[in-house]
Amino acid sequence: MNSNNNEVYDYFNRPLRDLRISVTDKCNFRCTYCMPAEIFGPDYPFLKKSQLLSYEEIERLTKVFVHSLGVQKIRITGGEPLMRKDLPQLIEKINKIKGVEDIAMTTNGSLLPKFATSLKSAGLKRVSISLDSLQDEVFGKINGRDVSVKTVLDGIDAAEQAGLKVKINMVVKRGMNEQEILPMAKYFKDKGHILRFIEFMDVGNTNKWNLKDVYSKKEIIQDIHEVMPLEAIDPNYTGEVATRYRYKGSNEEIGVISSVSDAFCSTCNRARLSANGMLYTCLFSSKGHDLREPIRSDATDEQLTDLVEKIWFKRKDRYSLDRSESSTTRKKIEMSHIGG
Ligand code: SAM
Ligand code: SF4
Ligand code: SF4
Repeated sequence: MNSNNNEVYDYFNRPLRDLRISVTDKCNFRCTYCMPAEIFGPDYPFLKKSQLLSYEEIERLTKVFVHSLGVQKIRITGGEPLMRKDLPQLIEKINKIKGVEDIAMTTNGSLLPKFATSLKSAGLKRVSISLDSLQDEVFGKINGRDVSVKTVLDGIDAAEQAGLKVKINMVVKRGMNEQEILPMAKYFKDKGHILRFIEFMDVGNTNKWNLKDVYSKKEIIQDIHEVMPLEAIDPNYTGEVATRYRYKGSNEEIGVISSVSDAFCSTCNRARLSANGMLYTCLFSSKGHDLREPIRSDATDEQLTDLVEKIWFKRKDRYSLDRSESSTTRKKIEMSHIGG
């Protein structure tokens, strides 16, 4: 199963390259498509501190993934990752691991004015900041907490000023914010930030997903192309999740992550580690594999490597390619546990 020292391949010959680490299942937003407020209320059983992997445990697992399993890129996510105390300390630990080629983070941006500088000093290179509208009325409803657009724009400014590379993520859902596609495209083209549109996905079981609510890649591109002509461009690397387009006659680009209308499972090289140490081999997995128990019962690095190798070797996930009515309703892990 090891073709080349530290590379592992799954059942469909896909290598393991990216590790997405969720550091908390908590969030200060209640986005309707991710953590609907009526379900993630005051009584929701969020993870307790003792259930979370400590930074030392995350560091140890990351070393195993990078040194023995072929992982090159790390993305920190949540819930909202900046809700976890002292996050720059974790970034610093990961940044010191030899072989980590890239560390990025996905965040709702609200806490970046407080943390951007220390994150950059700790070694963070890039942030993807989520924003679904430029209108307070629309955005406040989506984020479920009436958070203003300015709060996120201030976060974007703080990230830029700290020297972090910034991309913007916008989830598009029919009837929620498709009218915001064009204003967002224009705004971030002028700012010089890459905007990535994400089709509304059937992650978890709480967001009332329905195929009819998916505003597809084709529709998104058409809306923009009619006003600001686009041309397709090649992916930067194999396994890139976003399909890239450039505004004709410029270097500004956008991306579309089309998990529903145009699946990209054939090149999916991502594993996901939840805040409580469960390994998920697909965003739509029903169950994870516990890595916290072995790490807390003194498993050696070799034993951890062997465990993950076996899991990856058997991996047959290609949920988006096979999506059907029955699969969308089966039990799946929530987005706020594994972070997208
Ligand atoms: N809290 C951070 C944030 O919002 O950026 C990180 C975690 S969040 C789960 C990661 C990404 O997943 C965000 O860009 C969010 O918009 C996206 N997301 C959440 N639920 C989604 C859904 N049902 N369909 C598509 N994207 C979703
Ligand atoms: Fe929080 Fe991010 Fe989910 Fe919104 S998408 S509820 S910001 S974790
Ligand atoms: Fe990867 Fe699963 Fe998404 Fe397919 S559905 S691209 S296997 S995470």
